[in-house]
Amino acid sequence: MATERPRSRVRCEVDFDRNGRQAGYARAPLSRNTSGWGVVEIPIIVLKNGSGPTVLLTGGVHGDEYEGPIAVSKLARTLKPEQVQGRVIMMPAVNIPAVMNDTRLSPVDNRDMNRCFPGDPRGTFSEMLAHFMDSVILPLVDVSVDLHTCGHSGDSAPSTNMHYVDDAAIRERTMALAKAFGAPFNVVFSGVDEGATLTSAVERRGIVSLGTELGGWGRVSVEGVRIGERGVRNVLKQLGVIEGKPDTAQRDGSPATRHMMVRNAECYAFAPRSGLFEPLQVVGDRIEAGQTAGFLHFVEDVDAAPIEVVHRASGLLWMSAGPGRVQRGDCVAVVMQDYDEAQFSHD
Ligand code: CA
Repeated sequence: MATERPRSRVRCEVDFDRNGRQAGYARAPLSRNTSGWGVVEIPIIVLKNGSGPTVLLTGGVHGDEYEGPIAVSKLARTLKPEQVQGRVIMMPAVNIPAVMNDTRLSPVDNRDMNRCFPGDPRGTFSEMLAHFMDSVILPLVDVSVDLHTCGHSGDSAPSTNMHYVDDAAIRERTMALAKAFGAPFNVVFSGVDEGATLTSAVERRGIVSLGTELGGWGRVSVEGVRIGERGVRNVLKQLGVIEGKPDTAQRDGSPATRHMMVRNAECYAFAPRSGLFEPLQVVGDRIEAGQTAGFLHFVEDVDAAPIEVVHRASGLLWMSAGPGRVQRGDCVAVVMQDYDEAQFSHD
């Protein structure tokens, strides 16, 4: 006898099978000092009409990444159900406790929700939320676009990103979708610690998963919002959910997304000590292996020599640190290269 999967404890007032527009909340129970029967309300907007795929657009999985929540909520306010063929599920602020706290981690349980998948309804709050996404939302979905930035921990060249998934057909569909999204770069990578992310949960279900990195540094990037807003509409156009052709023209005049990859562990540079990090490049800059990424300063010690941090790979700078003060082991630079499928097939 098959064991039944435990049911979600999150109650969603939206009926996903109903045509038209619904806007409401998913309510996750949270017992707290002011209310033993309290709930946390997660905004959810669903448009359904005609026939076509179901597209999930998420922002705010990390609470200090603003471009996605802005882009998704603007789309949710303006898109009309009669413009849709299929279903669009929009969750602009998935991890609402973290969003309202402007932090990557949830203030409820101090967990990164994007390291809690597939989640557990009887686990911590973030695990319960991850389980809701995995067991209630993802089974409805054909394509997932999860909008991120680097938050307070860094900056990124505006980009979509995707895992190098083994299934060649899904990989090609994802690359085509990334091209349609139309960010300046699309980065294919294996990741540092990816098993418990939303992306991995989506992939386990054989669904197309596209992520983004649209900025960071705890601010709202003008270009990141522009690309994110255009990108979510471009994706819906590409999938035939709304009318029109994706507009992928880039600011520098190039016609389309440049497919990139993060080849291996050499592409990441980490801080060998805690200190103040002075980066020497901005995202998008050309990098040569052996070049100085930046210096760690120890201004609390008189005449202390800074420590040089060196890039170990050549390419373009995809991500840079950061918050100024970095901790030992923090990632301070990620370098990307032009996409070459052969680089992945031997892993
Ligand atoms: Ca993120």
